[in-house]
This record gives sequence, C-alpha cells and structure tokens, in this order.
Amino acid sequence: MLLTITTTLSQASDLGFLLHKHPDRVQTFDQAYGTAHVFYPEADQHRCTAALLLDVDAVKLVRTRARSTPDFSLGQFVNDRPYAASSLLASAMANVYRTAMRGRCDLRPELAETPIPLEITLPALPCRGGPGQAERFFRPLGWEVSAERVPLDPEFPSWGDSRYVTLTLTGTVRLADALNQLYVLLPVLDDAKHYWVASDEVDKLIRAGEGWLAAHPDRASITRRYLANRRTLVRAALGRLADADGAPEDALDPVEIEEEPPAEDTADAGNTGAVAEEPKASLAERRIRAVTDVLGAAGAASVIDLGCGSGKLLARLLKDGSFASVAGADVSFRAVEHARRRLKLDRPGPSRARDRVADLFQGALTYADDRFGGYDAAVLMEVVEHIDPPRLGAVEKVVFGHAAPRVVVVTTPNAEHNVRYEGLAPGAMRHPDHRFEWTRAEFAAWADRVAAAHGYQVRHVPVGDDDPEVGAPTQMGVFTK
Ligand code: SAH
Repeated sequence: MLLTITTTLSQASDLGFLLHKHPDRVQTFDQAYGTAHVFYPEADQHRCTAALLLDVDAVKLVRTRARSTPDFSLGQFVNDRPYAASSLLASAMANVYRTAMRGRCDLRPELAETPIPLEITLPALPCRGGPGQAERFFRPLGWEVSAERVPLDPEFPSWGDSRYVTLTLTGTVRLADALNQLYVLLPVLDDAKHYWVASDEVDKLIRAGEGWLAAHPDRASITRRYLANRRTLVRAALGRLADADGAPEDALDPVEIEEEPPAEDTADAGNTGAVAEEPKASLAERRIRAVTDVLGAAGAASVIDLGCGSGKLLARLLKDGSFASVAGADVSFRAVEHARRRLKLDRPGPSRARDRVADLFQGALTYADDRFGGYDAAVLMEVVEHIDPPRLGAVEKVVFGHAAPRVVVVTTPNAEHNVRYEGLAPGAMRHPDHRFEWTRAEFAAWADRVAAAHGYQVRHVPVGDDDPEVGAPTQMGVFTK
C-alpha cells in the first residue's frame, strides 16, 4: 500500500518539517500487522514528495491478538489487504504522522496553519461506489479529484474493471486537515475496517473530523460508514457533530441529527401519538437562542463574544436589530478567519450588518486586553471548559475584573447529563479538547465564588430539555451587576 504526498510549496522540502520526517532518511516503523516505511523519492526546493509504504504481513495480520484484532473469517491469508489502501493504511498514517495530524510543527508553526499546494496519490484504493464516490467525498473539501478505475488485468481489458481506483487529490489545503481527511475517508471508501468498531471510535472521528466533517454535505453517510453502521454510535457522533463549532445551519436537519436521546429511551416510550411534532432544534441552536434571549432581556446593546469560534452567535446577533454593536475574539487564528468569512467582513463595500461589527480579533482570554472591554455584555459560550484549570483564575480576572461588563453570560456542558448520551463512555467528556466538564453543583460553586469576588449577582438557566434526574445538557450562568 502506497500513499504519496507532494508539495510544490516554495521551499518544498519544508514538507519534512511538517511531517516530522527528514527528507534525507528512509525511516521504518513497526506496526502490529507489518512495517511502514517513509522515504522521499524527490526533495528539492521546488518539489518534494513523501511516500508512506505499508508492507502488510498477512500472517502477522491474522495472528495479531490485540484489541484491534483483524477478523477476516474468509480468506484470512489470501485477501487484498496487503495491496490496497484501507483502514490499515489509515492506522499506519495515524501512527507515523501523529504529530503532523495534530497540526503541530514547532519549527514551522505558521506553515502548519497555512493551506499549502498538495498532490496526494493512492495507486490502489478500494472504493465502494466507484470513482464517483471518491469525488463526492473529497470535492466538497476543496480537492480537485481524479479517480480512475484500475482494470482487473491490463492485459485482458475484456475482464473489466476491479473495485479499486487510482486516486489523485490536488488542492491547497492545510497538511493536518489533508491527513485527517484521509484518515477518516480511506476506511469510509473501503467500507471495511480491520478492527472492531468500539465506542472510542466516536471520539476518534470527532477529533479527526474537526474543522471539516461537521460542514460536509455527506457527513451523515461518512459517519455511518466510519462507525460500521452501529446505530447508537452513529447517533452519538451525529449529535456531537451538530453541536460542533462549524456545523452549518442545515445540520439542524431533524432526520439526521438527534441531539436529545431517542424517544424509545425516554419515559414516554409507549406514547405513539400521531401528532407530528415540530422538529427539535439542535442543542447548539437552542444555546444560541437562549443566549440571545438573555442578552435581549438584559437590554444589552453592545456585546462581545469571547471565544467566538466560527462566529455563529455573532451572525445571529447581527440578524437581531436590538444589538447595535457586536464584537468577537478567539485565540484561534483559524476560528477568527472563519468568523470573518461568515460575517462577510472580507467583502468590499459598506453593509448595514458589517458596519455593526465593532471588532473581530485574535486574542487570548488568559491575558488582560483592553479590547475586551467597553461592551454592555460579554458571552463565553462553551469556552470555559476549554481552559486548563490552572489558567481559569486568569480568565476570571480578565473577564470579570478587567473587562467587567454589566452582563456576563457563561454556558458550559452539564457533566451529569452525559449519561444520557449513548456511545459516550462512562466518565468520558463530550469533546476531546474539553479540559473538564462540571456538574451543576460544581458550576454553581464556581459561579457563586466568581460573582461574589467581583460584585456580580448570578442566575442559573438550564438550556435544552431539563431532565428531572440529571438536568439539562447545557448550563448557563447569567451574571449581572
Ligand atoms: N463560542 C463558540 C465556540 C466554542 S468552542 C460556540 O459556542 O460555538 C471554544 C472556543 O474557545 C474555540 O473557538 C477556542 O479557540 C476558544 N478558546 C479556547 N481557549 C481560549 C482562550 N484562552 N482565549 C480565547 N479563546 C479561547
């Protein structure tokens, strides 16, 4: 199995820094089911290609008795796995290019964040649904796709085509995104996994899908195939995707997304009332509505969204005439760029909505910054749980002490509600980047302490269906002074 990644970046051999693999060396990595080799067939200033060759040992593949035991009851020794890209290649990629997939590169940090010209080739990709399927999955991600069927035997064209395609992707994409897309989509196209799909696969999918899967038009079928059609896992993953930052408005599609536990699991399972119910909005949407409502009720005319992500709340506030000026800040450059596009700030010319955007900038809540101040209200929607606990004190001082607006709205997951999410392992958190998730009592204790220290009153409001036992999925604290 072979995967080549080529770039024509100026200083193309910087690809070695991004992949954390030196272009002058051949490196070998032992895998549970074979050996992975990384080498560079070409590496100069204009063009650089890294090849990942996975040499699968069919005997080892059968004998591995790890948790990820491959189980091919048919053709255990004679199958296409050694030759065709599949979940084996995806696993090897995750192993060998682990740091690159996380987007980390200490020597060229700005390059790791930047889309670069890439050409990716897989000579033999098993592809259920044929070349059209590969196009469907990769094109919305900004790739130009060339997928051609591989004949069964070039000597005998009359035998027809095999189920493999030669896939070439060309595009300007951030390397980490490209690797994560391949990691998810190779097994999805193969529609077969070499290991049992356990519940931690949901976490892996959410992590690898960050920044692209939530907005993919085929996210539902990708998720279904990735999770081998295990219904509870698929439901959990789609729920979390709809909740993810970057999910488009149509992720509210009620058929696809079931944010709340399915009806058969709730107390009124027997109720088969024929009245069609209003489709339920996703939790992300309900949060936006709840925050907008309390801001409106508090009479806040100017609002800053701290940790604004891709700017969904800002877009909503701009639709509402009662907010004369809105601003956003996020520590992530990509998030700010995304928000800038969503609010169409990159377009020329005046516009009523654009003119109400007072500021949109990259900034960290852990450092006092005068730009956070001067607004009636500040919102931290699903942000505090992303802050390392030792840094949380700094954020409190910056928001409640230094910026100190009249109103602060904080939302965060209610950890008690997690037992209602099927497919979320006991004790697991909803998102891989969460540093903690609070119970209602923990949030209340934090909120009361912060309010008392800075002269605010705090009121707690549940968001989402308020479960009598474990509470609502989201908790919201409204601080006023
Ligand atoms: N408020 C948005 C995004 C929530 S995701 C929404 O509800 O949809 C959490 C966001 O917090 C991310 O965009 C992340 O980049 C941002 N964030 C995390 N730590 C931060 C910090 N120290 N300063 C500013 N933003 C931070």
